[in-house]
Amino acid sequence: MLADLHMHSTVSDGWQDPDEVAHLAADHGIRVMALTDHDSFYGVLRARAAAHRRGLGYVTGVEVSTYPPLQVRHILGHGVDREHPQLLAVLRRNQHVLRTQTRAWIEVLREKGFAPVLGLDAFEHKPMIMPGAVLKVLLQHRLMSEAEAWASVRQAVDFMPAEVYAPMPSPQEAVDAIHAAGGLAVHAHPGVVPDQDLMKEVLPLVDGLEVYTRRHKPEQIPVYEELARQYGLIATVGSDYHGFNGERYAMPKQMIDQRYLERLGARIEWPALEATA
Ligand SMILES: [Zn+2]
Ligand SMILES: [Zn+2]
Repeated sequence: MLADLHMHSTVSDGWQDPDEVAHLAADHGIRVMALTDHDSFYGVLRARAAAHRRGLGYVTGVEVSTYPPLQVRHILGHGVDREHPQLLAVLRRNQHVLRTQTRAWIEVLREKGFAPVLGLDAFEHKPMIMPGAVLKVLLQHRLMSEAEAWASVRQAVDFMPAEVYAPMPSPQEAVDAIHAAGGLAVHAHPGVVPDQDLMKEVLPLVDGLEVYTRRHKPEQIPVYEELARQYGLIATVGSDYHGFNGERYAMPKQMIDQRYLERLGARIEWPALEATA
């Protein structure tokens, strides 16, 4: 069965709305999907409603950032209770860090006169903001090239004091919160973590390893297949789709390991029969 257990929407730094993401998955023959926006659940209801209209199984998911930020040890939570207080508390800590970064960047853009043009002041009222969402607005308005936009965000956030990032959870805290919320924890895109020893510290904690992702080069796949075997982890599948700058959806080529679907069990929400008619 084709599944995509790692996708992003405009709720975090994706370029398409949650329901569009669900339709895209359905259009490509995906049977089970999880929207896994960074540190937030605000897209779940819209994505799930669209997924169910198209007959897909839906897994409530999230991608949790952990400390230190540059190591991108991102932990996917699959099949979680999105109202669980321990998990929500962890996500709020990350949302606070992302908001601090975004505000700093908006200040830099304000000095250049961009904020009123782009409606960046309205970002303050959104429940969840991150620099990637501002980047989207800049590129969509063609006010900067991609390289200029990245340089600008680096100017704003690269020299922030280290304590800005202190609220971020450790991988242990993130995994504990996902488990407390009844979910399974997966180390996303392990191949992009700069310090591979730090990545391996996470492996005894999690249930799965995202081996099959377009963020891995073909020669990386066997490396992480072997690590999954060593640590007794199920290899999972996820596109990490963002739709960035018009990027097309590259659906997963690998079928999902049936054992992972079995472990998710009732945590996969299927549409009621009448809803698919
Ligand atoms: Zn990630
Ligand atoms: Zn992601």
